[in-house]
Amino acid sequence: MEKPHVAFLPSPGMGHITPLFEFAKRLVIHHGFHVSFFVITTGASAAQNELFRPENLPADFTAVEIPPVENISSFFTDDMKILTQLCIMVRESLKHLPSLLMEKRPKALIIDLFCTDAFEICVKLSIPVYSFFTASTILMAFSLYLPTLDREVEGEFVDLPEPIQTPGCTLICPHDIPDPVKDRKNDEYKWYLLNVSRLPLAAGIFVNSWDDFETVSLKALRENLFFQNIPIPPVYTIGPLIKQDEVVTEKDAEILAWLDDQPPDSVLFVVFGSGGTLTSEQLTELAWGLEMSQQRFILVARKPSDACAATFFNVGSDENDPLLYLPEGFVRKTEGRGLVVPSWAPQTSILKHRSIGAFLSHCGWNSTLESVIHGVPIIAWPLYAEQRMNATFLAEETGVALKFSKDPGEELVDRNEIEKNVRIVMEGEKGKAMRRRAKELKESAKIALNSGRSSYESLCSIVQIWKSQ
Ligand code: UDP
Repeated sequence: MEKPHVAFLPSPGMGHITPLFEFAKRLVIHHGFHVSFFVITTGASAAQNELFRPENLPADFTAVEIPPVENISSFFTDDMKILTQLCIMVRESLKHLPSLLMEKRPKALIIDLFCTDAFEICVKLSIPVYSFFTASTILMAFSLYLPTLDREVEGEFVDLPEPIQTPGCTLICPHDIPDPVKDRKNDEYKWYLLNVSRLPLAAGIFVNSWDDFETVSLKALRENLFFQNIPIPPVYTIGPLIKQDEVVTEKDAEILAWLDDQPPDSVLFVVFGSGGTLTSEQLTELAWGLEMSQQRFILVARKPSDACAATFFNVGSDENDPLLYLPEGFVRKTEGRGLVVPSWAPQTSILKHRSIGAFLSHCGWNSTLESVIHGVPIIAWPLYAEQRMNATFLAEETGVALKFSKDPGEELVDRNEIEKNVRIVMEGEKGKAMRRRAKELKESAKIALNSGRSSYESLCSIVQIWKSQ
């Protein structure tokens, strides 16, 4: 019998690609599907190229490269925000989508938040489109509510005197709202609003979360508390879906071998997602803060930049020599205790290692899930996008993270505060409590994915729908 065939289409960026990739793999490996996975080409992304090497893909998983947009940089201006660039890249790339879909004829197309041009294309081809919301459920609830806020609120949301109430959900501090909605005059706000206002067109929405993790916002969505005038598609909670079977290169194996020699829970892992970068001054403070804390660490170092997501489109391609930009004497002084890795490290293999004691993270949603599922507490260092919301949720609702008193995305965090927070989490009582809480959440995540439990059954229900079509 022919295998059921569905297609996936993520927007560029490892944080978008990874969850859709894992979902697709699960359908192939556990549910007997054939998958076509459309890949938007962004130029020099070594991490992306590694992921789609044919020898790394299971049988029945076909990666389909969408032809690169000619002269894409001519669409961009110097002051254009990343989200605007990303949406333009998607818009131009999707000009190839109709012919690809006509050739492949999948039963359904699963897109992420920024590929919503696919709705119009697929209506004409009678292909149902599902959305995989790859960030938190609270952000999804806020996003579904945004068109209403857009109609009802005057001025900037970020200037509102009171926290924002997405009905049924916890209050959101205006300072924490995602970057794209902070300046309503900027094009990136228009792109964000356009994409989220199309969410109700989906045949279903998948969220990368589970019932015991985002209890409040999932309940609000399920009980349809606030969308009386907006038809919400069925919501499938299928998480946590995190990177499995990470490809480990020879260089990566050296990092893991170094970790093997360290005591349990003794190493702090420091990385800012696929795109995160620090200013030169901030990187210097971070380096000396780590040194002063006297803790073991792995630091993924990237060339400093005044933009906070400078490597977003070329992740893992930035071959650089950290000695050229880390403060003089830092590498020598921390030798043996600290490991500096340029550009990119095998994050999930590191987080799962017994020697890891904490994660200093930008709190992207994938990094959040990867940390929690491995029972690792977090020192939150949000930089861009919706990371401030994630950091607040982790610190205030789940108890697995510690925030800085300043906003690291906007103000310089000095070495003393970094040393203090690192010591609190690595050796203090508060750190122990956070680690215990992280282990509890790890268990609840595992349970959710077990046969008969919420995320597993949610995935099975959609599998049945696609198989019966
Ligand atoms: N990642 C990695 N090695 C690195 C940096 C990032 O493997 O050195 C992976 C990480 O495991 C995660 C993804 O890149 O799966 C980053 O996604 P996230 O949503 O956390 O942040 P984003 O990159 O979208 O800001």
